[in-house]
This record gives sequence, C-alpha cells and structure tokens, in this order.
Amino acid sequence: MGFFRLEPTARSSWRLAVLMGANTRTYKFALGTALLDVAAEGRSEILLRDLAVPYAMGLVRRLGQAPQVSSNVKIGELDFLSVAEREAAKSLSLGHPTEELLAAAIQSMPRMVMKKFHNLRSEGVEVPHRFYEVTGSSRERVVRLSEHLRDIARSEQAASLLGELSARWSIVETSFAAGIGQSLILDGVAVDMTTLQITDRQQRRPVAGVTDAVLGFQHGLCLICAEPLTPGLDDIAVDHVFPYSFMKLLHPGPHGAAPDLDAIWNLAPAHRSCNSQKSNRPPTREEMTRLAQRNESIMRSPRPLRRTLELTLQRNGHAARPGVWFTFIQRVHGLL
Ligand SMILES: [Zn+2]
Repeated sequence: MGFFRLEPTARSSWRLAVLMGANTRTYKFALGTALLDVAAEGRSEILLRDLAVPYAMGLVRRLGQAPQVSSNVKIGELDFLSVAEREAAKSLSLGHPTEELLAAAIQSMPRMVMKKFHNLRSEGVEVPHRFYEVTGSSRERVVRLSEHLRDIARSEQAASLLGELSARWSIVETSFAAGIGQSLILDGVAVDMTTLQITDRQQRRPVAGVTDAVLGFQHGLCLICAEPLTPGLDDIAVDHVFPYSFMKLLHPGPHGAAPDLDAIWNLAPAHRSCNSQKSNRPPTREEMTRLAQRNESIMRSPRPLRRTLELTLQRNGHAARPGVWFTFIQRVHGLL
C-alpha cells in the first residue's frame, strides 16, 4: 500500500489500523486510546483487567452522545455493548467501571477487539507492526506492549495520534447515527470554514476538526514544508493548497463548474508560518504531489471522508476510484 511505502514505520502501521480499517463498532478507538495512554508511561506490560478500565470508561463516556455500533448490527443481551449501556450511568457516577462492566470488558476484549486491532480491511491481512500480545493464563491475562507501541506513544507525534483517533471516532459514530449517518455516508462531509470543522451536510452539525480528521493521512506532516506538525505545540493553519482567490481565475472545465477550492480535497493542515509565507502563490510540484498522495490515502479509507473525495472526482468528470488524484490535481493546475 502506497501509504505505508511512503513512510514504512510503526507509526504508519498504527495509522493503517486506526484510520483505514472498516468499522461496524467503535471498540478499536477505545482500545487505541487506552493503549497509547498506558504505553506513554513507558510500561512494557499491563494486566488485562487494568487495561480494561480506561477501555470501558472511554466507551461509556461516548455511549451517551452517539451510537457505538452500526445500525445494521443486531446486538444481543449479552453483547458487551448491551452491558455497557446498562452499566454506563452507574460507572460514570462512580468514575470507574462497575464490577459487571469490568468483567464483560475482560471477557470480550481478547475475543473481539484485541484480536482484530491489527487487521486491515481484507481478511487475513495484518499491518506490518504488532503493538501488543495477549499472554498469561485464562485466570489472569497479561497484555505485553511492544517496543513499537512505546516508541510511537512517546514520539513527538503522540498528540497527533490521539487527536486523529478521537476525530476518527467522532466521524465513525456520527455515520452510525440514524438520519444524519445515512446522509454522511451518501453525501460526504462539508467544511465550515469559519470554525474549521467538518460538518454533516444535512444539519451542519460539527463532527470533527479538519486538522484532526485529515492530518494522519498526510503522515502528520505540514503539506508545505513536509516537517512534523504537532497539535498543541505548533501553530497550525488549514491551507488552501490552490489558494481560494484562484476560484475566480479557474476556467470551467468541460463539465461546467470549476472545482470547489473550499472542499476537503484542497484543504491541508500546515504550519501557520508556512501558510503565511506561501500566501497566494500556486502550489509547487512537491505540494501537489503531497496533496495527491494524501487524497489517495483517504480514498483507501472507509466512508464518509472517502465518499466526499469520490463526489469531487465525479462532479468534475473523473472516475471515482483510487489512482486518479495526480491527474485531477494536474488538471486543476492547467485550468489556471
Ligand atoms: Zn511547514
């Protein structure tokens, strides 16, 4: 996969697992957050029952806000999510999981989410790095955290990875919601340029920040200088790769309207200083390549971000499939 070849590191494997896997539930995001937090302390192992605490609490905190399972999935009485729903209010008031919730988490984690975390979308294919192994006896399971996990959890991009997880989690749970979920999946997302939030087209409700939603697909790097972009440390701007002022210069293509420059395909996080220096110049060849690569990665991720880019391609007369972004971006450049 191109995404991994461009940066063949444990961090790219992590992003493949979190950003590109298909989702019918959100367990993966709760597990990923708990793993990053624990590994950031430098630990090499943790009892499953201890890891289950932040995992279960992460889920019950979200349960009240949005569905954590696709409406296509039927869940039974004994399903972990049913237990979590029953035990959510009490666990939240206690500040830790109830005995019943903890027991259900310890039982379901090794069988479900921990088994699937490393999987890519195609059956039987795993990401190139492993982040943990479950060992120990059935009486007391132990989770060994790999050096790869500790490295990424303590790297300069750790804050980005947590932000990406949370944004992906919000996007996926919104796509599970009745009503707006369907429109999100069919119509893709819109961008509110005032707040720099991704919104659903129907109700214009904020779903996630543009930066958190797309930064992982550009490997956490500034689109202009290709150096790391660290939320909380760097001042970050969302760059119009083709400047917005070009809108009026763009000649309509054979398909009528000129491409919309205020849309996800043309928006990329960058250092604020790089963004101000760039000002209104057209993108360089390198910037166009990075943008095309970033968009190709999104095209290989699940909907609705992918859907948004497919619609851009379709509306401009291109086939809505991976492999087209280099051509499309060259063509936009040619319209100037
Ligand atoms: Zn930069």
